[in-house]
Amino acid sequence: MSETITRPAILILLGPPGAGKGTQARMLEERFGLVQLSTGDLLRAAVAAGTEAGRAAKAVMEAGDLVSDGIVLAILKDRMAEPDTAKGVILDGFPRTPGQAEALDDLLAAQGQKIDAAISIEVDDAAMVARVSGRYTCADCGEGYHDEFKQPVTAGTCDKCGGTTFNRRADDNAETVGARLTAYHASTAPLIAYYEARGVLRTVDGMSAIDAIAGALGEIVTQVTA
Ligand code: ADP
Ligand code: ADP
Ligand code: ZN
Repeated sequence: MSETITRPAILILLGPPGAGKGTQARMLEERFGLVQLSTGDLLRAAVAAGTEAGRAAKAVMEAGDLVSDGIVLAILKDRMAEPDTAKGVILDGFPRTPGQAEALDDLLAAQGQKIDAAISIEVDDAAMVARVSGRYTCADCGEGYHDEFKQPVTAGTCDKCGGTTFNRRADDNAETVGARLTAYHASTAPLIAYYEARGVLRTVDGMSAIDAIAGALGEIVTQVTA
């Protein structure tokens, strides 16, 4: 059962590929009943479905570059219009450019909402290649694992759902991670100052253990919704 929060929060998780955004967003979703909204997941679903946006995004994603703001914003707005987001959202991997951050502010303002916290998960670039290269997820429930850092209790069986099929992302290889880190520093890292100037920036140490980070994030959620 999830803990009660007094009002729906709007949280952003900022951090480079491998920082732990997806892992932590799923834990916050379970603990607080918030809804994880990952533009990476939405884009991969569009690619798999072969939609027009998906066809345009596929090669860009495989190269480790950022998909255009126009495509990402259209997908994000559709998802934000679904009723479950009224429970509060954890934006995972969005915004990733100043243009996206401004568009999000406008979208929220039009609904009388605002960002409660933009949380930067601080990590060492050098460690991110190993994080991303060892990542895999359960094909049935999406739970994330790592070859070294987060193995299922029973090898080959998902802890959450018992599934035995796992996926690795096409872009999770050492070559593409370099391009993704470059894109992060060029386009996304400036958002740290953007949110600091708006008084909503928080930081957590992303090099610590998964549960320790979850504890720090839980405290932030509890504070901003008090
Ligand atoms: P992101 O969504 O930011 O790209 P993920 O949450 O998918 O990152 O994490 C990347 C990989 O690193 C996954 O395989 C995950 O199991 C693992 N991981 C996540 N957080 C940590 C951590 N604090 N320490 C070690 N490994 C981690
Ligand atoms: P990670 O944080 O592990 O790098 P994501 O799943 O968030 O991965 O993103 C995977 C890819 O999808 C990115 O490298 C990029 O091509 C695309 N993408 C996801 N979210 C965005 C976004 N907000 N803006 C532009 N491109 C995005
Ligand atoms: Zn599973």
